[in-house]
Amino acid sequence: MIRIARRALMALSLVAAGPAMAQQFPSRTITIIVPFAAGGPTDTVSRLVAEAMGRDLGQTVVVENAGGAGGTIGSQRVAQARPDGYTLLLHHIGMATTPSLYRRLAYDPVGGFEPVGLITEVPMTLVAKKDFPANTLAEAITVIRRERENLNYANAGIGAASHLCGLLLMKAVDAPMTTVPFRGTGPAMQEILTGRIDLMCDQTTNTTEQINSNALKVFSVTTEARIPALPNVPTSAEAGLPAFQVSVWHGLYAPKGTPAPVVQRLSQALQVALRDEKLVARFGELGTAPVAQDRATPEAHRAFWQADIAKWRPIIQAAGQYAD
Ligand code: ASP
Repeated sequence: MIRIARRALMALSLVAAGPAMAQQFPSRTITIIVPFAAGGPTDTVSRLVAEAMGRDLGQTVVVENAGGAGGTIGSQRVAQARPDGYTLLLHHIGMATTPSLYRRLAYDPVGGFEPVGLITEVPMTLVAKKDFPANTLAEAITVIRRERENLNYANAGIGAASHLCGLLLMKAVDAPMTTVPFRGTGPAMQEILTGRIDLMCDQTTNTTEQINSNALKVFSVTTEARIPALPNVPTSAEAGLPAFQVSVWHGLYAPKGTPAPVVQRLSQALQVALRDEKLVARFGELGTAPVAQDRATPEAHRAFWQADIAKWRPIIQAAGQYAD
């Protein structure tokens, strides 16, 4: 009798641990996994967000890079992590394309996660090594059509934003280039700077400072309007390639099964972080801006993510572009 009562008590205390755990959350360091290499654009956004969220949460938020396979290696780590809010994923548009690009994954690329909130939509730029023999997008297209596979185009693996952007470009100019994959566009940037890579399409969060210091050539920004951080860079439409438009949205995720109050607390911290003066100023210098506060919620993030999965699926299926 006593033993049964003790067992019942134990079970009860476990059930009760959920809300209590959420109340104390966070009581230790949180890790944000970035599924790309250090020094790249997703890493840059993550470090700014981690620092600002840490201030609101009263705990250190560290960033760990787990690059490779277009972001699927880092994503898998988070999908399989303990769902307690201490291991998170900060990923980009790849969360919407991976479910269609990869048919065999060791984790569920949609059901494996709880969305926490959207962060930013970052413009992309088409950049080239400093001595690339073109100064405008029209001249670059002529060179691409002439040199084709003699040109090296860097990306961060299949499903990466740079991969999608490269597909759009190669389709628009109707010429293939040799694709060189990296674990992220941070390391790819080093190779463009040394001239071993010819071209890359990457977020302004990685290219703005290199463009403004003339370390690279730039041909267009992939937005409808010019952006304040790069006022002299024409839009793709102005430069004659209106179909060449992409913006790279980023979001924060917890593993599936993370208690709702923990997800809510993280979302609240994200919303505070996105209004942090230092973060907003730095985002602006890097050519982007935080999303509006009502988009940094689990609900808005889930709706946007699902709509983007539905948007990309027919495009990827029609292109027959699979990673596996
Ligand atoms: N910008 C990269 C991409 O092409 C990823 C990164 O390193 O952040 O998806």
